[in-house]
Amino acid sequence: MSQDWKKQFEEERQRRQKQRLEEDRARQEAEEARWERHAAIEFANFQRKYKCHICGKPSEDMRTYDWVVEDGNMVRDDFDQPYPGDLAMCQNCRRWTCYAHLYEGVCRRCWGK
Ligand SMILES: [Zn+2]
Ligand SMILES: [Zn+2]
Repeated sequence: MSQDWKKQFEEERQRRQKQRLEEDRARQEAEEARWERHAAIEFANFQRKYKCHICGKPSEDMRTYDWVVEDGNMVRDDFDQPYPGDLAMCQNCRRWTCYAHLYEGVCRRCWGK
């Protein structure tokens, strides 16, 4: 009696295992691509929303969390809304302004310049 059926069985098992691994990898790659697309769209929306109202420069620094000290420990504080790290809100007109066009918390336009 030939032992070929065992060999065949083993080959079949390995083939299935390989297929499963490839499927897993493909699924993972699709998930990563989806996530990257999602992040790119989020960032584009963020840049549309947060830009200097004087020069029009969009924020390059999207912050979604900050570190705060709580009971002597550094705790991650996730924001509900992303926050521009390189823009500040003018204290007078409440509009986003880059630091080049801001002086003492007030934008150049509100200084009358
Ligand atoms: Zn500006
Ligand atoms: Zn202003």
